[in-house]
Amino acid sequence: MKNPNLNNIEIDHLYHLGLDSSQDLNAMFGDVKFVCMMGSSLRIKDFAEKVSSSLGVEIPEEGIQPIGKTERCSLYKVGPVICVSHGMGAPSILIFLHELSKLIEYARASDVRFIRIGTSGALGLTPGTVVVSEGVLNGKLEPIFEQIGLGKTLRYETGIHLPLAEGLLQSRGDFEAVLGLTLGTDDFYEGQGRMDGALLPPYSEEESMNFLKLAHEKGVRNIEMESTAFASFCRRANISAAIVCATFINRLNGDQVTTTAEEQMKFSSYADELVLSYLRRTLLPLPLISNL
Ligand code: URA
Repeated sequence: MKNPNLNNIEIDHLYHLGLDSSQDLNAMFGDVKFVCMMGSSLRIKDFAEKVSSSLGVEIPEEGIQPIGKTERCSLYKVGPVICVSHGMGAPSILIFLHELSKLIEYARASDVRFIRIGTSGALGLTPGTVVVSEGVLNGKLEPIFEQIGLGKTLRYETGIHLPLAEGLLQSRGDFEAVLGLTLGTDDFYEGQGRMDGALLPPYSEEESMNFLKLAHEKGVRNIEMESTAFASFCRRANISAAIVCATFINRLNGDQVTTTAEEQMKFSSYADELVLSYLRRTLLPLPLISNL
């Protein structure tokens, strides 16, 4: 994976993480096997605590502590699992994907899998159903992430590691979970065909519904805002990657997220539980080191 240009940098400053390559990253992160990412820095702390009780990794008395700086993200290490927040949207997650991949490289950690645990709108599913992505499409319904670089449109294929996705789905508990395509957009409102943004959208309600129905016919089961960047980055970097999302709304029934805060917590906990159960199945046979 390594970018040869990095060989010319004496100390690589992983600016947004608040870490750098002069630190003993091997001692800090050399045993990492999973990087679990979520948008919210509050939810990732809660998830890190769940990882610690699930895997039996002790938390220090003063509570679980973030590593590095916390202005832009919160990063916790629980045994062999990095739990890190990535903010909202492709630009934010991409920054962390670059810096986390370099961190893994400098730490000489091997066979590291990346899992994004997100929230999303469903297409044709009851809210609360967990969607494990089997592929990722962009807003044009292509399996491509588009980015502008040096004045040109750069296009990268998206890719999910299907055996990882299937392994995750097999870890589902007492709740609905399905494999499906994920639509990754650049915005929550007009990017997802909503009628309830601040501005009059440049499409009709009928056009919006027709697009959502077309996406559903093509196999799209949920819509969020990071999957194209995540799945294309991991494909380029040769990292096995999967996406597991809670769903809060069926977009074929409306635009407003009206599920209560309690319901959202419950639905998010299903996605967490699925990943935690997979981590237990995969990691518990390994000897764990409690180095938070
Ligand atoms: N997140 C999204 O991106 N869209 C939704 O509809 C709900 C959560």
